[in-house]
Amino acid sequence: MAFHPFHFDTHDLPRRAGEMREYFLEIDEHEPMGFDVISIPDYEPIDIELRLESVTGGILVTATVAAEAVGECTRCLDRVEFSIDEKFQELFEYEVDYRQKKKPAKKSSAKADEELDEESDDVRQMVGDIIDLEPSVRDAIILNLPINPLCSPDCPGLCPDCGIKWTLLPVDHEHAVADIRWAGLEGWKSPEA
Ligand SMILES: [Zn+2]
Ligand SMILES: [Zn+2]
Repeated sequence: MAFHPFHFDTHDLPRRAGEMREYFLEIDEHEPMGFDVISIPDYEPIDIELRLESVTGGILVTATVAAEAVGECTRCLDRVEFSIDEKFQELFEYEVDYRQKKKPAKKSSAKADEELDEESDDVRQMVGDIIDLEPSVRDAIILNLPINPLCSPDCPGLCPDCGIKWTLLPVDHEHAVADIRWAGLEGWKSPEA
């Protein structure tokens, strides 16, 4: 059976508008979340403060996601840590019995259905009592991670020639420029010239 650490069973919450439950989840086992340069590694827990409220037709989920991302400075490759602490709110609709769903009777109503679908993009569907928090948690993390993480905003990076950090090099550090890359092209002539 597939492992779904972000599936949450809401059976404790009565399906009566106004009912509310709060939970604290610590997700210890999950896939890494993020990008190559920075991500929540699989060994870092993802903490979720979860509040579920019964509303008409579904459950309103309010959650705070906290986790520690680890990555490397895109200039000097030093280790970089970044804390995620993000809130999201999402409406989960109770599962609609597929037998009650009507197919569009006429083709002309297809467009209206499409518009309806677009409108309900933000609404997620429950499966039985289960809500899947993963897409929202993933968004909360990925949309808030720095795309170009830096160890400090003014990190000078590495010397492009020797790969040593500028912070470790004397200010007058330089390499004698003997550019052999074009040497082979000397004397080269276009056949048509
Ligand atoms: Zn750096
Ligand atoms: Zn150098």
